[in-house]
Amino acid sequence: MKISSLFGQGKTVFSFEVFPPKKTSPIETIYDTLDKLKELSPDFISVTYGAGGNIADTTTCDIASYITRKLNIISAAHLTCAYSTKDGVLEQLARFKESGVENILALRGDINPDIQRKHDFEHASDLTAFIKTNGDFHVSGACYPECHIEAENMVEDIKNLKKKVDCGAEHLMSQLFFDNAVFYDFIEKARIAGINVPIEAGIMPVVNAKQIQKMVSMCGASLPAKFTKIMQRYENNPEALRDAGIAYATDQIVDLISNGVDGIHLYTMNNPYIAKRISESIKSLL
Ligand code: FAD
Repeated sequence: MKISSLFGQGKTVFSFEVFPPKKTSPIETIYDTLDKLKELSPDFISVTYGAGGNIADTTTCDIASYITRKLNIISAAHLTCAYSTKDGVLEQLARFKESGVENILALRGDINPDIQRKHDFEHASDLTAFIKTNGDFHVSGACYPECHIEAENMVEDIKNLKKKVDCGAEHLMSQLFFDNAVFYDFIEKARIAGINVPIEAGIMPVVNAKQIQKMVSMCGASLPAKFTKIMQRYENNPEALRDAGIAYATDQIVDLISNGVDGIHLYTMNNPYIAKRISESIKSLL
């Protein structure tokens, strides 16, 4: 089933993101996680691809196929293009089709200065157009409520986002953010620019202080005072930090749903316990 069929049904879409296990861990670890996430009835689960500029293998496709065929949940496979050729993408598309994966999050991918990039696709919009003309896939795209770090400014970034939608992106998933006001401002700008596809809000619950600092330095999310106070007060108390982080993310989600957001995309960090606590708190609101 295609992700586009989930929107416009009078319900807030609630989706999860997982990542493939490290090469040193058996693939079964993610299947155990997914079996637990299934109990939370997400609308779809997306699977990351070669994050960090690594040239990825077929694991993303295998995991997305497990979600669709074994768990009977809609899956989306992320696919990056900065290090791919057109032939490489065609091979991936054939593999997705054969594996029952109908939804793709088309991404450029982060640029790793140590790896020679390819230039068959300069931007995610090029990959989006290529996928649309080479198969019957639903294509999603990424968006950045606080501007993509390489963009000159928000105006340019939104213009580029509009190009991505015009090339065929039917749904957008946002980068994580901790200040809902930033997201509402972004939605308003996107709508004024004529971007009318559903936009899901990316929410990442705090799991531990070290990880959050890394994520923020990588994606440039600003931290509201309320959030930094939690970090400072509980950084040496993992259990309290986890509970406060879950409460913070839940509070963000309640506010987003109350304000009519199209969907919530929860970065689960492959942690079913945290996803469960959040899902149980908000399921009657969706
Ligand atoms: P693009 O849309 O190509 O944008 C990149 C930059 O180019 C932006 O500054 C944009 O303004 C500019 N730009 C875009 N189009 C044009 C144009 N036509 N002309 C001029 N400039 C243009 N990375 C991974 O490696 N694996 C993953 O699985 C993964 N999953 C992600 C999931 C989500 C929800 C998000 C938000 C990000 C994810 N990323 C992932 C990170 C992503 O790959 C990086 O943020 C990357 O730097 C940009 O990818 P993009 O698809 O947004 O690129």
